[in-house]
Amino acid sequence: MNILIKNLGSGVKKVIINDPNTYNSLSFQTLNSLLNTFKKLDKDNSTKVIVLEGAGKGFSAGHNLKEVRELKKRSKYLKLFNLCSKVMIQIVERLIPPIIDGSLAWCQLFSEPGAGSDLAGLQTRAIKDGDEWIITGQKVWTSGGHLAEKGMLIARTDIDAPKHQGITYFAFDMDQPGVEVRPLKEMTGRALFNEVFIDEARVSNDDVIGGIGNGWAVANTTLMVERSSLGSGGPEPVAVPAGTKAGRLEKKVGEYVLNAGGNIESDGGRGLDIKWLSDLAQKVGSSGDPVVRQEIVKLHILGEVNRLNMLRAKAGGSKTGAEGNLAKLAMSELVRRSRDVGNLIIGADGMLSSSSSSFDGRVQEATIFSPAPSIYGGTDQVQRNIVGERVLGLPKEPGPNKETPFKELLQN
Ligand SMILES: Cc1cc2nc3c(=O)[nH]c(=O)nc-3n(C[C@H](O)[C@H](O)[C@H](O)COP(=O)(O)OP(=O)(O)OC[C@H]3O[C@@H](n4cnc5c(N)ncnc54)[C@H](O)[C@@H]3O)c2cc1C
Repeated sequence: MNILIKNLGSGVKKVIINDPNTYNSLSFQTLNSLLNTFKKLDKDNSTKVIVLEGAGKGFSAGHNLKEVRELKKRSKYLKLFNLCSKVMIQIVERLIPPIIDGSLAWCQLFSEPGAGSDLAGLQTRAIKDGDEWIITGQKVWTSGGHLAEKGMLIARTDIDAPKHQGITYFAFDMDQPGVEVRPLKEMTGRALFNEVFIDEARVSNDDVIGGIGNGWAVANTTLMVERSSLGSGGPEPVAVPAGTKAGRLEKKVGEYVLNAGGNIESDGGRGLDIKWLSDLAQKVGSSGDPVVRQEIVKLHILGEVNRLNMLRAKAGGSKTGAEGNLAKLAMSELVRRSRDVGNLIIGADGMLSSSSSSFDGRVQEATIFSPAPSIYGGTDQVQRNIVGERVLGLPKEPGPNKETPFKELLQN
C-alpha cells in the first residue's frame, strides 16, 4: 500500500491511497498511515481541504463511513475532510480551488417565492436535454446574486418522485442567456439580495453535485455548514465579496483587515462587537451604569458559551448533531441583544443614520438589520422544529405521506 499526495493549489490537497486490498473498509495500518500523512500535510498550516481517493476496487463515497467518522474524530489537523467518489473528486478539483482563493463568487439559489421554510416544495424545474439540463423557474432572496459567477441551484428533476427525492443540486453559471438578476432593496437602503429569474438556462450534466435526485441531502449539508458558520460566534470575520464582479481582487488584504469587526460590506452580521459597545459606553460616560455593565457582560457570556460550544462541536465533541441549529439560534439572539445594548447606551441617537448620528449610525444600521439573522439560513422557528423532531424525538408536524409523488401534492 502506498499513499500519494497531489497538490491541487489554494490549499487543496488530494491524498490517493493505492491499496489493491481496499474494499469496503480501511485497515488499521492504512488508517494510521493516513493520519500520519495528514499530520505532515498540516505542518505548515496551509492545508484547507483534503480530498481522499482510494485506488483499490470498490472504494467510493458511502463506503468506510465508520472509518471516516473515526478519522475525522482523531484528525484534529484537518479543516475539512472528505471521502469522495471519482465523480465528486473531479468536481472538487474543478470547483473548490477558485472558491478558496476567492477568484469565483457563488450565490445560493435555494429559496423561491413559494418555497422558503418549506424548501422541498420548490418548483424550479430541470429537464434533461442530452448532456445538459434546461432550467426554468424563479429564485428569491439570493444574497450576492448580482456579484456571483456561479450559483448552487436546487431544482426539481422528477415530479413523479416524492417531494424530497426528486430534487437535484447543480453548479449553475449565472452569466448566460435566460438568467436575469434583479436587486431587492432592504430597509437598510442597500440591496444585498436579489430575485433571479431563470428562463430555459442551461447546466451541464457534469455540474450535478451529489447525484441526480440526491439534491435534498446535498442542500441540507450546505445549510448545516452555513448555520454553523453563521453561528460560530466571536468577532465578525473580515468578509470581502469574492469574484471579479465585486472588483475587490486587486485590493490589498490590509485594507480589509483594518475594517474587521464592523465590515459594512459583509452580507452577514453578528451584531455589534463587545469591544465596540464597551468603548461606546465609555465615550458617552455610561460605562459606570450598572445596567449597562450587566447587559454588556450578559452579551459577552452568551457569545463565549456559543463560541466554546461550536469549538467543541468542530473538535468532534458533537453530542446531538444539532449544534449548527443551536449556534444559529444563539447568533440570532446575540444580534438582537447587541442591538438592544447599543440602543440602551446611546438612547434616541440610535434612531439616526450615519449622516445625522454622533456615533456613525452603526447602532441604527444594526437595529434595522437585526431581524435578518433570525430568517436567513432557515428561520428560528424552523431551527426549533429541527431540534424538537431530530434531537428530542418529538412527533413530526402533520403533513401528507412522505411517499406521495410531488405532482399530487397541494402546491404553494
Ligand atoms: C438577509 C437574507 C438573506 C437571504 N439569503 C438567501 C440566499 O442567499 N439564498 C436563498 O436561497 N435564500 C436566502 N434567504 C431566504 C431565507 O432562507 C428564507 O427567507 C427563509 O428560509 C424563510 O423563508 P420565507 O421567507 O419563504 O418565509 P416562510 O417560510 O413563508 O415563513 C414565514 C413565517 O412562518 C414561519 N414558519 C414557516 N413554516 C413553519 C413551520 N413549519 N413551523 C413553524 N413556523 C413556520 C417562519 O418561521 C416565518 O416566521 C435569505 C433571507 C434573508 C432575510
